[in-house]
Amino acid sequence: MDDTSAEGPANGPIDVEALKQKYQQEREKRMLANGREQYRVVDAGHAAEFLEDPHAQGIQRDPRTQDVEVLVIGGGFGGMLTAVRLQEAGIDDILIVDRAGDFGGTWYWNRYPGVQCDIESYIYVPLLEEIGKVPSRKYAAGGEILGYAQAIGRRFGLYDKALFETTVTAMVWNDADARWELSTSRGDKIRARFVCISPGPFPWPKLPGIEGIESFKGKSFHTSRWDYDYTGGEPGSDLLDKLGDKTVGVIGTGATGLQCIPVLGRNAKQLYVFQRTPSTVGVRDNQPTDPDFVASLKPGWQRERMDNFNATISGRPVDVDMVNDCWSRALSLLNGLSGDDPETIEKRQIADFQTLEDLRARVDAVIDDPETAKSLKPWYNLMCKRPGFHDEYLPTFNRPNVTLVDTEGNGIDRITENGVVANGREYPLDCLVYATGFEFMSQIDHRMGFDIIGRDGRKLSELWRSGYASLFGLHMHGFPNCFILGNAQQAITPNFTYLHMELSRHIAFIVAQAKARGIRAMEATPAATAAWVDKVMAFGPTRQRLQKDCTPSYINNEGQVTDLDIRNGFYLGGATAYNQMLAEWRADETMPGLEIR
Ligand code: NDP
Repeated sequence: MDDTSAEGPANGPIDVEALKQKYQQEREKRMLANGREQYRVVDAGHAAEFLEDPHAQGIQRDPRTQDVEVLVIGGGFGGMLTAVRLQEAGIDDILIVDRAGDFGGTWYWNRYPGVQCDIESYIYVPLLEEIGKVPSRKYAAGGEILGYAQAIGRRFGLYDKALFETTVTAMVWNDADARWELSTSRGDKIRARFVCISPGPFPWPKLPGIEGIESFKGKSFHTSRWDYDYTGGEPGSDLLDKLGDKTVGVIGTGATGLQCIPVLGRNAKQLYVFQRTPSTVGVRDNQPTDPDFVASLKPGWQRERMDNFNATISGRPVDVDMVNDCWSRALSLLNGLSGDDPETIEKRQIADFQTLEDLRARVDAVIDDPETAKSLKPWYNLMCKRPGFHDEYLPTFNRPNVTLVDTEGNGIDRITENGVVANGREYPLDCLVYATGFEFMSQIDHRMGFDIIGRDGRKLSELWRSGYASLFGLHMHGFPNCFILGNAQQAITPNFTYLHMELSRHIAFIVAQAKARGIRAMEATPAATAAWVDKVMAFGPTRQRLQKDCTPSYINNEGQVTDLDIRNGFYLGGATAYNQMLAEWRADETMPGLEIR
């Protein structure tokens, strides 16, 4: 073994320098000068036909005029948890508004065939103990998760407090009355002392910004608006009985593509999968829930398991890895090597190479055709993209009716009225499915669909034009009594609901304190804001180091990690440290960093 070799568990020695070069070449192939701008975002003003809600109930109601203590925007798990924690803290005067027709957030919209949570459902679905449920499988299907959201809504009386199929269109602070004044798409006029916004990380679908999308004459839709009328079947079923005589194309092989492609492969006459970059595909090993596991659960089990997962993936020493899945095993290994000294950096890189060698070996073991296997191998570090886990995805490419169209990093050339052109060849299609992902962490006015007008008429988009500025990602100077969950400058973990659990508790604490102390308005001070921004920016060099050589994805701002991107990104000190800071803040009765009136 020479200096640049290391042990690879699956394939023997690995050539470190050759791998570095290969990763670099693969990255270069995919780097686009227009970065995020390569996409065409679908929103109310653009390609809005892709946004139509196939599940809408067509709710009829009169406009409301209402004054509430707290308005929650967003009925996903973040918004629901906030409402639940507020109620527990004695705040009942709550209204929840969501453009969807029900609770569930991402699980309301994403009902594509095969949809499943790729985080263990025992730690992902919140409030399981409170609703007295344990999911039926380690990784529950999307429909089951939607059912839990509805169960939470019923158990905590949230349906009586919800306005569905309703979009907030304006939000203006009235300083004299210390109230937010909101308008909605249904003509509601709502005044609220506090507003909690939980927009979700992926509010809008995106499409490739390539020529010809509008010219396609066949059927097309985005995975988050699956058209079962066209494909046949229904959410949760494996049978898409109208596709047996159809040629179907899918663009996108990320986490969503991995889940819907196996079902499409089983049902379509012919399936073409257009791939720009292969995902990593680790073992899923989904299992039905063991009754003995359920019988063993003691009160407080869910929080303990969530904390354990979070500690494990952060690389902290734990007695036992309770979840023990691909996430926890891979991330405990990599994040256990998080030092900034050259030796640890190199060790981590080698561990990452070895992890990927195993995943590439899995491709060879599963795929019959060597050329297809070659195309399905990923060449980048594990966390450059969201890691994928699936047991039916790779075998799908052994089916005679499924063809992988490897565009070798180029993406498709264009769309015509007949189908997709890739590698210079046209593939005629009856149906084209866009599994092309979502806008991620864009400017808040675009994510929300309206700007927030704070004290002195100041727009939040203007405040944040040169970069986000907040305390804990939660409070903004000039925007009193407004909280944003799941925001930039907050911690990040693959288990989003873990953070929502903590943030919702924190918000409920603050609102209850405000009520108890007669506080009319509170907002972050400029000094506390500057200090928090500095804390976020302090992780810039680490992020640059981890992501600068990455193949592009939404996680690394399409391969261009700038200072602005770091500032508009997450607090990278870890969820445990972040939660600890929030707990210490709550323990300090002076509400440090907030200007209180
Ligand atoms: P992604 O952004 O991860 O993937 C989009 C896909 O579209 C990529 O494969 C991308 O290729 C491809 N693509 C984009 N433009 C083109 C083009 N011009 N030509 C060819 N291919 C193109 O979106 P997903 O919807 O898959 O996932 C988004 C996120 O949603 C996940 O990362 C995850 O956080 C969440 N999610 C979570 C799930 C869960 O179980 N918890 C399940 C599903 C999604 P390239 O890689 O080259 O950019």
